[in-house]
Amino acid sequence: MKPVHIIGGGLAGSEAAWQVASRGVPVVLHEMRPVRKTDAHETEGFAELVCSNSFRSDDAENNAVGLLHAEMRKMNSIIMKAADKHKVPAGSALAVDRNAFSDEVTAILSSHPLITIERGEVDGLPPAEWDNVIVATGPLTSPALSEAVLKLTGEDSLAFFDAIAPIVYKESIDFSKAWYQSRYDKGDGADYINLPMSREQYQAFVQALLDGDKTDFKEWEKDTPYFEGCMPIEVMAERGPQTLKFGPMKPVGLKNPHSDDWLEAVVQLRQDNKLGTLYNMVGFQTKLKYGEQTRIFRTIPGLENAEFARLGGLHRNTFINSPKVLDGRLRLKADPRLRFAGQVTGVEGYVESAAVGLIAGLFAAADRLGHEPAIPPATTAFGALIGHITGGADEKTFQPMNVNFGLMPPPEGRVRKNERKQAITRRANADIDQWIAELGGLSVAAE
Ligand code: FAD
Repeated sequence: MKPVHIIGGGLAGSEAAWQVASRGVPVVLHEMRPVRKTDAHETEGFAELVCSNSFRSDDAENNAVGLLHAEMRKMNSIIMKAADKHKVPAGSALAVDRNAFSDEVTAILSSHPLITIERGEVDGLPPAEWDNVIVATGPLTSPALSEAVLKLTGEDSLAFFDAIAPIVYKESIDFSKAWYQSRYDKGDGADYINLPMSREQYQAFVQALLDGDKTDFKEWEKDTPYFEGCMPIEVMAERGPQTLKFGPMKPVGLKNPHSDDWLEAVVQLRQDNKLGTLYNMVGFQTKLKYGEQTRIFRTIPGLENAEFARLGGLHRNTFINSPKVLDGRLRLKADPRLRFAGQVTGVEGYVESAAVGLIAGLFAAADRLGHEPAIPPATTAFGALIGHITGGADEKTFQPMNVNFGLMPPPEGRVRKNERKQAITRRANADIDQWIAELGGLSVAAE
């Protein structure tokens, strides 16, 4: 049987290789380290954790990433198996001994009879005879391969930096202060959620941005460009006290229905997913530290109790515009033999990257075996994540995303607010079990 070629032995590529080989399909895993290094990796091991050693919450009942852990365990994930084996105390989070974790993954993949490891950079589009390929080269994809992908997808479909504005759960916004309206009632007149600020509130807010603790760029990130359209909010504030209210916070073309008070500035939120559960803070990309973002943004009228699905950031990060260029099975529309997985698809985080690797591996193996399994249901964490990057997100504003409950349809019927998460995870558990059962011979039972 011809092999599946997997490029990149990180979180996604390692998981994909394991998933393909576990289904009896041979794999060639191409990893450029140590022949060629990245700016962040330090070892030549597979699934190296480049920064934190945490896989975040392991609470599968109340937390979306915990739910994703549980679904991955049900799918016999090598990443979860190695993480569980080498976990270290971290409360309700799952944290690991990073070296033991990576050594474990490396040992399992290296000794697998169906996996061949080739150390070396894939420095352009894969040769034509590689008919089933997974590209899992991560946020630091080598420049030669990025350039080749760029040629295939077009200039506007591959980004080298993310510029992430925080995303708020709509249900946590206080609509006794907020209102729906587009500037000058353009579009359907109510495309944005607006949050009003008085003069005093605006001045205090600008000062808080100036004083807030910021994250430094890493040495190799120092050339991160500030495109005019995505300059960090605090950098705009540094340009002068008026800059924001003549920029993203300008109050023109809007009327606050709750009050006739003078409108000094406005924060606008724009819908971020088709479900309409998530809203991004327009123009609020930021290098403020996470704790500072929560503290400062909750001073905005209407966001006092805001829950954030994702906080803002600005990093070097290579990712494709998946909603535009991938099909629902993670294949490049322009060249379907190429499937993408991991952070390069515009998911964010170790767990999410590995999860997309898992599904890409399943699909690639299924292709080889002549099957076409269903896409995981949107009510599961797997399905919500894949569905978001391949269609649920707006391609015009696409930025990397963590898994979160806002990506999943709200629970059916009337459910109390404090029981919503459990209702979503209960439904997800039932639906993932059903989906796995329907995979039949492709399911590879968890041990
Ligand atoms: P990677 O794990 O980076 O794997 C990609 C692999 O592809 C690498 O081994 C690389 O050497 C190889 N490769 C690249 N190009 C080629 C090529 N042309 N040919 C062959 N091989 C190639 N996420 C978190 O959850 N927590 C964190 O603390 C965290 N910190 C981060 C810190 C930094 C500096 C960066 C850049 C990202 C961080 N992330 C973090 C985000 C992300 O989750 C991780 O980068 C994660 O490793 C992504 O998994 P991946 O498999 O997509 O990519």
